[in-house]
Amino acid sequence: MNAEESIARWVRPELRAIRAYHVPDASGLIKLDAMENPYPWPAEMLEEWVEVARTQAVNRYPDPDASAVKQALRVRMGLDDRFGLLLGNGSDEIIQMLAMSMAGPGRSLLAPEPSFVMYRMIAEFTGMQYVGVPLNPADFSLDLPAMLDAIETHHPALVFLAVPNNPTGNCFDERAIRAIVDASPGLVVIDEAYTAFSDGNYLHLLESNPQVLVMRTLSKEGLAGLRLGMLAGDRAWLEQIDKIRLPYNINVLSQAAVRFALAHETVFEAQTRLIRAQREKMIEALRGHAHLQVWSSAANFVLVRAPEGRALEIHAGLRQAGILIKCLHGSHPMLEDCLRITVGTEAENQQFLQALDSIL
Ligand SMILES: *Cc1c(COP(=O)(O)O)cnc(C)c1O
Repeated sequence: MNAEESIARWVRPELRAIRAYHVPDASGLIKLDAMENPYPWPAEMLEEWVEVARTQAVNRYPDPDASAVKQALRVRMGLDDRFGLLLGNGSDEIIQMLAMSMAGPGRSLLAPEPSFVMYRMIAEFTGMQYVGVPLNPADFSLDLPAMLDAIETHHPALVFLAVPNNPTGNCFDERAIRAIVDASPGLVVIDEAYTAFSDGNYLHLLESNPQVLVMRTLSKEGLAGLRLGMLAGDRAWLEQIDKIRLPYNINVLSQAAVRFALAHETVFEAQTRLIRAQREKMIEALRGHAHLQVWSSAANFVLVRAPEGRALEIHAGLRQAGILIKCLHGSHPMLEDCLRITVGTEAENQQFLQALDSIL
């Protein structure tokens, strides 16, 4: 049997049908495509880190509970001891753990659309039915009646709400979120990947709702390379999900680097403030283009709609000019002609805006 035949025989059909998550080659380009923090660590901090790294025993397995990291994160989040905290190798891994603990025949995962693509992909990997409910096309707010209908029809085991939402950049209305929580038979996960760039958060929903879990990540604030996501909520729920976590999912260097970084959190907070200010400047500059539709954003990226039929050309033109952004055209009917630009440094944003000017 050749490889193709044995693959067809053995690899799960739903997996064979999935296209792999594509990460474009960004070498030599200004990266405004993946919501990374554009600032490297200050030189002094790097020196200090090298000293810390020297003392790490990489020949030993890491602390399986990452307790010191968790304690530092609890303090930072202001998370009450009544609640549990679970860590993942990025929040992507947490989404996977949640799906793996709930998957089974007839189990579904529901999310508004367009939203974070990993919800659908992980539902498919784990054999869950994925239910996507369109947002209101005018302003990307939750279509509450449609959400409630879909919840009643599908009884989802998991509902994911990204607040602020990726790729639309807006926050959902608290009353709508509460109504979804009240109607949901299973878990509702509030994905706060971008909460540092917005004005509020939903940690308070944990108080009276044991089926609500709040998920965060350090990726967008500056530690994408370390891969650390966290899930906060009811201890009994998290104990169940923790059974599916691989014992050493947070490696020695990540644990040490996250603790080190959290001890220097003012550096990241200053960078976040800078990114937020730059975001407003970028929005203002983009709104100067009569032919672009520009949405406001509570995250570290901006969503724009290009003139009809021009998104691919603009994306390619920017690439020619050495700038990588994300083209969303074709990814969802509501994102026709749309482009997503991550906020970079002031110099990077300037270069982007100039290149865009010459293309338009
Ligand atoms: C980027 C992103 C994540 C994944 O973050 P990692 O912690 O890097 O895996 C999760 N949710 C949303 C909405 C995101 O945009």
